[in-house]
Amino acid sequence: MTNRIAIVRKDRCNPVGCGEYLCARLCPVNMQQKDCITKDPLTSKAKIDEKLCTGCGVCPNRCPFDAISIVNLPAALDKPIHRFGMNGFHLYSLPTPIFGKVVGILGRNGIGKSTAVKILAGIIKPNLGKDESVSYDELVQFFKGHEAQRFFESLRDGKIVVSYKPQQVDLIPKNYKGTVESLLKKVDETGKFKEIVEKLSLGAVLKRDISHISGGELQRVAIAATVLKKANVYFFDEPSSYLDIKQRILVSKFIQSLANEDTAVMVIEHDLVILDYMTDLVHIMYGEEGAFGVVSLPKTTRTAINVYLSGYIKDENMRFRDHEISFIARREFRDVEFRPLVSWEGIKKTLGDFTVIANKGEIGVQESIGIVGENGIGKTSFVKILAGILDEEEGMLSDKIKVSYKPQYLDSESDQIVGELLKDAMKHFDHLFRPLELHPLLTQKLSELSGGELQRVAIAHALSKDADIFLLDEPSAYLDVEQRLLVAKIIREVAEERDASVLVVDHDLMFVDYLSDKLMVFDGVPAKHGEAKGPFKMQEGMNHFLTKLNITLRRDKESNRPRINKPGSRLDREQKQEGKLYA
Ligand code: SF4
Ligand code: SF4
Repeated sequence: MTNRIAIVRKDRCNPVGCGEYLCARLCPVNMQQKDCITKDPLTSKAKIDEKLCTGCGVCPNRCPFDAISIVNLPAALDKPIHRFGMNGFHLYSLPTPIFGKVVGILGRNGIGKSTAVKILAGIIKPNLGKDESVSYDELVQFFKGHEAQRFFESLRDGKIVVSYKPQQVDLIPKNYKGTVESLLKKVDETGKFKEIVEKLSLGAVLKRDISHISGGELQRVAIAATVLKKANVYFFDEPSSYLDIKQRILVSKFIQSLANEDTAVMVIEHDLVILDYMTDLVHIMYGEEGAFGVVSLPKTTRTAINVYLSGYIKDENMRFRDHEISFIARREFRDVEFRPLVSWEGIKKTLGDFTVIANKGEIGVQESIGIVGENGIGKTSFVKILAGILDEEEGMLSDKIKVSYKPQYLDSESDQIVGELLKDAMKHFDHLFRPLELHPLLTQKLSELSGGELQRVAIAHALSKDADIFLLDEPSAYLDVEQRLLVAKIIREVAEERDASVLVVDHDLMFVDYLSDKLMVFDGVPAKHGEAKGPFKMQEGMNHFLTKLNITLRRDKESNRPRINKPGSRLDREQKQEGKLYA
């Protein structure tokens, strides 16, 4: 029997838009007077009977909204751990927390990473593909002989207590009111309030209302609240979102320090440099977005990340991507003639208590420039000065330039239809944006999109405007590893085709490394003063930046991806002595 599943994405299925159940009218099985595709009486969306479906491929190809996937599963996959209703997402297998280790999960968006973690955390009760959730006893039986058997036995017997940090920390202010201090004291079961606040540098925001703190602060509050709960298995779903690089390293060290023989830690993370730094072992997850997800066996972190980039899990004989993701050993300054676009000297601007200065620098046409530095240090203000949105008090600016800006925080509450917003983008630049897979989103409202979908829409919108410089603030947020690298490639192509320049503020070092010809570095004290330095050549800029962070980066020998050296290791010492912090 063919191991086949039929998925109908309810958020995309639009029976009125397709002219009344186009899929049902075209299905060859329906034409034989059988009910293969019917109207679901509850939702009015299309419903597919997997037993009758022959996998002919007509409906997934003809649905104008890309709502249907017919998937022939790898033969080894039998029963799902969990299924979200008929024609819904299927999850096969689970990752395993290990005491004394930080175990990571790496994979694309929409293939069930959060679902897997929520099952382990007891938040989702799995159904083993049935209509009702099953008991822990049934789960123990299902996993007999596997690592997960012991986990669910311990969970059932109360020997495991879990604590879980959700992915969407921006929802926290909707559920909790009051100050950061009152929230953290309320959840503290460990008596370690003071210690955790200090370790996560939260002292300065304790008296602030939870609804008035930044994304990076909210993320650290969520992490603090998770560990203040007395537990022996901790789950962190995307702990680096909203954090700058300095904070990512701080949080990585903190999470690493939690694992001991009595405590297991599991992390979902898309920042590969941070995942590499933080975890001991990694499970790769693969499958098809919105359709099904499978978890690989755990591997040591370095191996897992390299296998992931290669797209082929040799020991499971599973090719999950048709191409390898490769890095250039070092992005050399592109061999194109420098054409000046804008230059500045001795710029100063005061905004309330905050001052930003920029000594001397220039940007050329078609340059992709990465911008790194802490949050709240004047990166956006500086670009607004270049754009003439803010006037400089002192200094010289060669020209005011036209800037198109994608902000860090996106408006997720708008009812505007994506197709309306992207009308110009799709008309003129569809060829550039095709890999962003925007077409299935065009009929949806902005408020209906996931974080990653909204990010892709916002990037395409900003890059389609008329501008000399595109400024993208944190375009990697909410994107998975593959989407990040795809976006980096598109950004470079847009700069070239539109004869414009790109400034990209981001905190994912691999993304910045992959995208940038040059680097600007912002120094200073957040909310007090900031200084823009550069643009430098990559090596020089990274050296400058990494000195402040007291870390060194090397290239992985196999994949060429950047990796943080273990502090005090031979390579760390050697690179510091040679003054090559970015090798
Ligand atoms: Fe129409 Fe596609 Fe929905 Fe079928 S799945 S009813 S073709 S929108
Ligand atoms: Fe019908 Fe299945 Fe063919 Fe779709 S793939 S048209 S459901 S037989």
